[in-house]
Amino acid sequence: NKQVIFKDYISGFPTDADMYITTSTISLKVPEGSKAVLVKNLYLSCDPYMRPRMTYTTDSYVDSFKPGSVIEGYGVAKVLDSGHPNFSKGDLVWGFTNWEEYSLITSTEMLIKIPTTDVPLSYYTGILGMPGLTAYAGFYEICTPKKGEYVYVSAASGAVGQLVGQFAKLLGCYVVGSAGSKEKVDLLKNKFGFDEAFNYKEETDLVACLKRYFPEGIDIYFDNVGGKMLDAVLLNMRVHGRIAACGMISQYNLDKLEGVCNLINIIIKQVRMQGFVITSYYHLYPKYLEMVLPHIKEGKIVYVEDTVEGLESAPQALIGLFSGRNVGKQVVVVARE
Ligand code: NDP
Repeated sequence: NKQVIFKDYISGFPTDADMYITTSTISLKVPEGSKAVLVKNLYLSCDPYMRPRMTYTTDSYVDSFKPGSVIEGYGVAKVLDSGHPNFSKGDLVWGFTNWEEYSLITSTEMLIKIPTTDVPLSYYTGILGMPGLTAYAGFYEICTPKKGEYVYVSAASGAVGQLVGQFAKLLGCYVVGSAGSKEKVDLLKNKFGFDEAFNYKEETDLVACLKRYFPEGIDIYFDNVGGKMLDAVLLNMRVHGRIAACGMISQYNLDKLEGVCNLINIIIKQVRMQGFVITSYYHLYPKYLEMVLPHIKEGKIVYVEDTVEGLESAPQALIGLFSGRNVGKQVVVVARE
């Protein structure tokens, strides 16, 4: 059983030397009397929240990785054997698994049976999995959007951002996204239908840049990056604007978080800023599927993935998120069936 092991706690940017590949043996049968599920992992998801798990903390909504242990993460898998009444051999599932070929999953609360396979299976790491639900709950529940509003999305070409932009367009909003390369800016405008997009790395004055794209101000900011961008947005918000604090990837590799200077605008502009963790919104998953599956089938929502092959490629793929190497949702293919 090939595995990706987390070496030890880190500070700063992760490197592929912080993980290593090893091989162990695993029985392909669930132990007698156990309620565990034995799965073959097919697709693994690289997600930014995995970086904070590489630093020791007791102060987060998710535990730190254990040095010397296999990396945990979201994935799509096939059930090979099950002691649990809700799962049987042959079922396809998505949820929490491990970065290895085969996993014995003892906590099955975060395992969801895959309802339909007439879309690519890997979508359950992205649009039909945790990032998709994040975009849905974050946009519709946290941002309370209305038709015609001015919406700004950062890290807009990624797993979550590309969907937020498309949801906002479907509702009839004016949508601008930012991303870190020309290729990504082109995707935003030409594939995902954003009204405008810009490369934030080429902008020296973010406040002025946002004023250019939003002369009348921003109603909704879907924040994936935090830091300087959030500070610039605060100066550009409209009265009664909303900010969904989804992620702050610009801060995940810093030992000391950057200060945000313009918070007073939350009072001046009567802005509502709300953080959220997607695990509190899983009850919305059936409703989300009902909305998104027809849109996917009719081609009204598209989804771009960045796929690498093999467990050996997983460490590089994960660290690539922090330099923006991924174009779309970062997926690792372990096996196709
Ligand atoms: P992405 O697929 O968007 O990948 C991360 C992207 O972030 C990179 O491609 C890069 O794109 C951008 N990025 C990296 N470093 C920086 C930086 N210093 N400043 C600005 N942008 C940077 O990731 P996801 O869509 O999966 O996640 C997006 C955000 O949502 C993350 O912050 C994540 O933690 C958060 N999240 C929160 C959840 C919740 O429950 N609250 C659940 C899921 C995700 P670029 O080239 O544009 O720089």
